Amino acid sequence: MTQQQQTAGGDVRLAGISKTYGSFTAVQPLDLTVPQGSFFALLGASGCGKTTTLRMIAGLEEATTGTVFLGEKDITDLPPYKRPVNTVFQSYALFPHLDITENIAFGLRRRGIKSVKKQVDAMLELVQLGDFARRKPHQLSGGQQQRVAVARALINHPQVLLLDEPLGALDLKLRRQMQLELKRIQTEVGITFVHVTHDQEEAMTMADTVAVMNGGRVEQLGAPADLYENPRTTFVANFLGTSNLIEGEVVSTGSDVVVAAGGGRLTLPRERCSAPTTSGGRLLLGIRPEKISLAHADDADSIATGRNRVTGRIVDSSFIGVSTQYVVESPAGTSLQVYEQNIDRRTGLLPGTEVILHWNPAHTFGLDADQDIDAGVESVEDAA
Ligand code: ATP
Repeated sequence: MTQQQQTAGGDVRLAGISKTYGSFTAVQPLDLTVPQGSFFALLGASGCGKTTTLRMIAGLEEATTGTVFLGEKDITDLPPYKRPVNTVFQSYALFPHLDITENIAFGLRRRGIKSVKKQVDAMLELVQLGDFARRKPHQLSGGQQQRVAVARALINHPQVLLLDEPLGALDLKLRRQMQLELKRIQTEVGITFVHVTHDQEEAMTMADTVAVMNGGRVEQLGAPADLYENPRTTFVANFLGTSNLIEGEVVSTGSDVVVAAGGGRLTLPRERCSAPTTSGGRLLLGIRPEKISLAHADDADSIATGRNRVTGRIVDSSFIGVSTQYVVESPAGTSLQVYEQNIDRRTGLLPGTEVILHWNPAHTFGLDADQDIDAGVESVEDAA
């Protein structure tokens, strides 16, 4: 355990926190616990309330209702500078006339600490910028400047570091590098990071826990793999990766639920349904594109028994290197997506080919059919 972990004072807990601007509610009353030492991401499309939530933790925004706790302590009424919390913004806001050492030392100097070298050196080492100590910010790349901003915040030994789209100004390749870098830094210092982003891949790469926000509410919270494998709403299913959603009617319910859809029967485990499964009721069946295999329509006999299967016709195929992505028209849904890894690149699945899509029923999830089937799709397009 690091020194900072030992001195850190607990979870961040939001109890009934909300924010309204006039008649508009940006954040609906929210109960949320960010465990101490975790890397926590608030993920959502533009305008969903994630920055407002972060700013209420920082004290930069006054909550309309609710309480912010840090450990056992109520910090709701503390001004930002009295909270053991620091924020790193997308605009690094480094001091252009100061070199990197002095930028990092700023917080210590402001508190009247004279001998800063040891702590600054430790921070320079942490963010791997030891060779750049005497440069000015404009002599660094965007990613390096962002690392200085992180070091400048961490030198104050906050209990919580808040990151507001910190990688938003970087190009894609640098973003990916910095994601791993930030994850390494968080693991090394062991303090709580709360990271705001609209980029689902970024949230999933870095965070232990992701809260998916939509319209001022947390739609679902969990570990990245859990959210991906077990989305409970169409918004989460569409916003985190791609989902095929097939509407059907429940035929029978036991430990498995059987659904009539697209002229056939599909099965899924009842424990994977987040909606009631009464016979005669409607259900949306979800299946991720990489879980589906394709067979030629005349190879139906080669498909193992017990797999879910629907018929279809390839309407588009895109070779993208690591995989081939197919769009398949099917009576089960207007267009279904299938991602096939390019292990043995085969030929023959050209547009027009009649196919059977088949998958393991255990990979299917069930959602409430009363939701908008396209919720979250546009948000992903906006965020991109
Ligand atoms: P983005 O990724 O675009 O920053 P966000 O999810 O962080 O989006 P917020 O900045 O939290 O969203 O804003 C949530 C909603 O509150 C938005 O609809 C925004 O227009 C609104 N809002 C934010 N600040 C104010 C304000 N000072 N006055 C009125 N409305 C505001």
